[in-house]
Amino acid sequence: MKILIIEDEPKAAEYLRKGLAESGYAVEVAHNGTDGLHAAANGDHDLVVLDVMLPVIDGFAVLSALRTSKQVPVLMLTARGNTDDKLRGFDLGADDYLVKPFQFPELLARVKALLKRGQPAPAESVLRAADLEIDPVRHRATRAGQRIDLSAKEFALLTLLVQKTGEVLSRTQISSLVWDIHFDSDTNVVEVAIRRLRAKIDDPFDEKLIHTVRGVGYVLERRAAV
Ligand code: CA
Repeated sequence: MKILIIEDEPKAAEYLRKGLAESGYAVEVAHNGTDGLHAAANGDHDLVVLDVMLPVIDGFAVLSALRTSKQVPVLMLTARGNTDDKLRGFDLGADDYLVKPFQFPELLARVKALLKRGQPAPAESVLRAADLEIDPVRHRATRAGQRIDLSAKEFALLTLLVQKTGEVLSRTQISSLVWDIHFDSDTNVVEVAIRRLRAKIDDPFDEKLIHTVRGVGYVLERRAAV
């Protein structure tokens, strides 16, 4: 991750450079608006930390010129905490704004948040089997587009069955994976949960997806209508 710091005060620039470098970032420093704008416009930085108070070309001018060509995240720094400056910065396309003086951890937290925001969204994690959809992140299950309300255990059980679509799971396997129970005697729990789950995801629909494999366990799969 590459960060460009545009700050004219040598001490402040060095303080930022050192802190960010120690936090594992590749850091470049520009000491005035002209150099900073040139570096930002032509570089491949993941973030720009831009001081408002710069000689000749100030931070607002740098930002407004930069935004004609680049959408790199910009964190603005200023000694002036007035709302007009803040609004002006956001108007010009700043992504965040930090008022001097600040503690380094505060800046680091903003930097991390901005860099995270720029990351592509995590890969799709939705699981599908037939017309069932399970979204483990949002804890949501739907069948044929209809939302299905499930308890935490029912959700875990359905997720397991969908992950193992077409694979027969024994009651013992299911109880150990979903309930962390390792005794055969407790597999009645599984039967009860399967019955509840069927009532929600199979009973209202013509096509049944959860099947009992006699003497073995359960499997979730599409089967041709008999
Ligand atoms: Ca300055």
